[in-house]
Amino acid sequence: MVKLDLRKTPSSPDQINSPACLAGTAGRAANGFSSIDVSSNTSPSDKTFSPKVNSPLERTILRKSSKAVNEQSDDLKPILDAYHLAKKRLLFLDYDGTIVPFAPKPDQAKPAAETLSVIGKLSKDKLNTVIIISGRDKRELDDWLGHLPVHLIAEHGTFEKRAGVWQPTVNIDESWKEQIRQIMQPFVQKTPGTLLEEKKSGLVFHYRNAFSRVNAAKIADELYRKLKPTVEKQGLHISHSSMVVEVRCGGADKGQAAQDLLASGNYDFVLCAGDSQTDEDMFNELKSKAFCIKVGVGKTAANYRVSSPEALLNFLEACA
Ligand SMILES: [Mg+2]
Repeated sequence: MVKLDLRKTPSSPDQINSPACLAGTAGRAANGFSSIDVSSNTSPSDKTFSPKVNSPLERTILRKSSKAVNEQSDDLKPILDAYHLAKKRLLFLDYDGTIVPFAPKPDQAKPAAETLSVIGKLSKDKLNTVIIISGRDKRELDDWLGHLPVHLIAEHGTFEKRAGVWQPTVNIDESWKEQIRQIMQPFVQKTPGTLLEEKKSGLVFHYRNAFSRVNAAKIADELYRKLKPTVEKQGLHISHSSMVVEVRCGGADKGQAAQDLLASGNYDFVLCAGDSQTDEDMFNELKSKAFCIKVGVGKTAANYRVSSPEALLNFLEACA
């Protein structure tokens, strides 16, 4: 594991691609991607990432966000430096809980004007390719973000929008849905405030809006345990995080989708940010090649962390 040392933060594009900056990696990977090793486990408590605020750059970050000190945003200084030096950047951003706070009901989590402004600025920068990579379905992503020059990936990598047309990345078999629905539906009925969402590739039990979240969390655990044998037998995927239990087709995940896009270009800066278990697929795939930011609490493979979508947006605004 290589610890990034702020005192050696690269100050030029040459340096960022130098062997020293690529410490611990084989340098340029076979696919042409200039991999930056950021695999150090940089928890917020790591003293290496608690620099004193001395430079104009650091002061700029803090001025942009009065909460930055508390959010450890100053720990993101190496990312900000690398961002500004890079010539071709790839940014993977999850939606719910990452660039937008959670709402009681999924359809209420529309992006605020500030969010659209930051994502708009980033996506209009010709050096950037911005990917919104979400578990949401195509329609919501299109409705909320389709007017921006972003690349959209829906349903955890199951669909990609290319040249204005949505395409599945895997064959989608829906024959399993009825059996899984019959297991899930009674849990919705006995838990007030929960709901069952159907996507093309999956069924989702939401309990963020449950009358009693504590009770609903126990019920969700019970649902997860009940579903697991059937899900495994059918080669499906199941996850329980961010107050949802989701069953979906196997074969696609955010990690694979991100890896495919990464291989399609020679990027000298890659960032991915996410908050939930499904984003860990992305972190695990990319962590040796990208700056990975976990939003919120919980165990993670990411090398950086911020506490909230607001903190991440503050950082992205500093980049834009
Ligand atoms: Mg999320």
